Amino acid sequence: MLEITNLSHTYGSGPTAHNALGGINLKVAQGELVCVVGPSGCGKSTLLRSIAGLIRPSGGQVTLNGTRVERTPDNLAVVFQDYSRSLFPWMSVADNVSLPLRRKGLDKPRRKQAALEALEEVGLQGASAKYPWQLSGGMQQRVSIARALAYRPALLLMDEPFGSVDAQTREDLEDLTLRVRGLHNMTIVLITHDIDESVYVGDRVVVLSKSPAGIVGDLRVHLPGP
Ligand code: ADP
Ligand code: ADP
Repeated sequence: MLEITNLSHTYGSGPTAHNALGGINLKVAQGELVCVVGPSGCGKSTLLRSIAGLIRPSGGQVTLNGTRVERTPDNLAVVFQDYSRSLFPWMSVADNVSLPLRRKGLDKPRRKQAALEALEEVGLQGASAKYPWQLSGGMQQRVSIARALAYRPALLLMDEPFGSVDAQTREDLEDLTLRVRGLHNMTIVLITHDIDESVYVGDRVVVLSKSPAGIVGDLRVHLPGP
C-alpha cells in the first residue's frame, strides 16, 4: 500500500516561491493502477518525483507498506517520458536492463536471465544484443519499461511514459503495461495528460488542478486486478 499524507511542495522561497503541490492525500492499494491527470503545470511531475524520493517535499510524507519511500528506494522503479536520456548508449540493451539488478545482489547469469525474460515480456527478445541507438523510439521506451519490470518493484512510477511515441506504439505500450501489471500484481502510478489514456489503463483516475493546487477528482473506472 502506497500512502501519501498531506504532501505539499513549494519551489524556491521568498517572493519567487511557487506552491506546486498543496496538501495531497492519496492511498493506492497493492496491485492498483492509478492514473494522475491534470493540466500542464498542476504538479503531476512534482507529485511523482516526491513519491520516487527524487525531491524532498516541503511537507507531508509518502510511505510504501509503512516505510517512508526515501528509506526503501530498492522497492521502486521509474519510467520517464524521455527514453533517449534514460538508457546508456554504450551498453547493449540486455546490459541496460540487467544493470539495476546488481543492487539486488543477483549474480551475472541470474541478471542476464531476468533481463532476457523482461525483454521477452515487452516483445524485444531479438534486440538484446543491440545498442539503444539502433532502435526506434518506441523500442527504446520498451527497453526502459523492460528495465523497470526486470527489477520487479513493489511500486512502478511512470511519468508520461508513452508521451513521445507514435499512436500505434502508444496503444501497444498501454496494453503491455496492463498485461505486465496483471502478471506481477504491481502497484503503478502513471502520469498522463491524456484523459482517454487514463480511463483506458487506470483502475482509478485522480485529477489534479493547478488552482487550488490539489486533488479535485478521484474516480474509479475499473475494478483493480486481472
Ligand atoms: P506538471 O507535471 O503537472 O506539468 P510540474 O510538477 O512539472 O507540473 O510543475 C508544477 C509547477 O511547479 C509548475 O508551475 C512549474 O513551473 C513549477 N516547477 C516545476 N519544477 C520547478 C523547479 N525545479 N523550480 C521552480 N518551479 C518549478
Ligand atoms: P516508432 O516508435 O519509431 O514508431 P516502433 O517501436 O513502433 O517505432 O517500431 C516499429 C517496428 O519497426 C518495430 O516493431 C520493429 O519491428 C521495427 N524496427 C524499428 N526499428 C528497428 C531496428 N532498429 N531494428 C529492427 N527493427 C526495427
